Amino acid sequence: TKVLLTGGSGFIAAHILEQLLAKGHSVVTTVRSEDKAAKLREAHPAEAASGALTVAIVPDIAQPDAFDEVVKTPGLEVVLHTASPFHFRYTDPKELLDPAIIGTTSILRAIARSAPTVRRVVVTSSFAAILNEALIDSPATTFSEASWNPVTLADVARNPQVAYRASKTLAEQAAWAFVRDPANAVRFDLVTVNPPMVFGPVVHYLASLDGVNTSNARVADCLAGKWRAEVPPTGAAILWVDVRDVAAAHVKAGLEVAEAGGKRLFVTAGWFSNAEMASVVRRHFPEDAERLPTKETKGGEIPGEEERFRFDNEATRKLLGIEWRSFEESIVDTARSLKKVGA
Ligand code: NDP
Repeated sequence: TKVLLTGGSGFIAAHILEQLLAKGHSVVTTVRSEDKAAKLREAHPAEAASGALTVAIVPDIAQPDAFDEVVKTPGLEVVLHTASPFHFRYTDPKELLDPAIIGTTSILRAIARSAPTVRRVVVTSSFAAILNEALIDSPATTFSEASWNPVTLADVARNPQVAYRASKTLAEQAAWAFVRDPANAVRFDLVTVNPPMVFGPVVHYLASLDGVNTSNARVADCLAGKWRAEVPPTGAAILWVDVRDVAAAHVKAGLEVAEAGGKRLFVTAGWFSNAEMASVVRRHFPEDAERLPTKETKGGEIPGEEERFRFDNEATRKLLGIEWRSFEESIVDTARSLKKVGA
């Protein structure tokens, strides 16, 4: 199958690329710079030579015509759109919102106009588009594939987390609205993959400690000794999933599970806390003991079961049939991969 994967240099996308190539699919992937394109080609010389891997440069996905050319690649059947900013280094929230929202609508519009062979588009959304901050502390809340974050543009000024959640929510809403609008005459179906916090090993040929992705940064911080005095708060969105399972979910949703069409997939392995993360790292990396929190170090606990929201992702689990990796395996593999690049 011929697949277009956007943002191929990203933490999650790099795993999707690995899995697609391992399964023998042809991949066209987009990155922002020639430097990253070269790294991808060098890591996959055989596929780059045979044409199974093509890397295209799309410098700015916030441009409405960003994807107009690359979607014209002959014979594309599936598009996996993962590129979207997940960081808090911005001065204006538009730096998150525009690539997220315009990036999503522009790729859908380009496909609808110029890529008649595409049968399915998978958009990487987020648990950020499912949760509702006002209900997060209540055991009466159950978040599922049917839940929507009520955040609006008016909320983005509140804080960077809210701005990021808005970028994902509004981008996903725009995607569903686009495919449902008869004026767009779409001939493909849409699937969204909605992961919470994603941990897991970084793909080595792209990895650097400076460039560690946002969700893994807390593992890097723990290894760097920043949690020695106190484990930081876990945050509100206390669900997680391993990156290899998120990548597998994209591959299944895009290429293998026909019934996924039209669905939101809530991919999560369950609860986690920074306290548990600290304890896994401490148990597995005794050689780093003097930098790590001890058993007595306080912080990072999550509310007890009676003070947290519930979640229900049975529909997704049944549809995809993925056995989620354990938190321990995920964190140990993350830490090992970060130590290889100097953590
Ligand atoms: P990364 O930061 O590693 O990847 C983000 C990707 O988007 C990179 O390929 C990046 O390119 C690209 N990108 C970001 N901004 C722009 C822009 N303005 N123009 C062009 N490309 C851009 O993060 P993840 O792999 O974690 O994120 C991938 C997707 O998964 C995103 O949609 C994110 O919202 C979603 N997600 C991530 C979660 C997590 O915990 N990691 C949880 C839920 C959803 P470059 O490599 O050049 O920076």
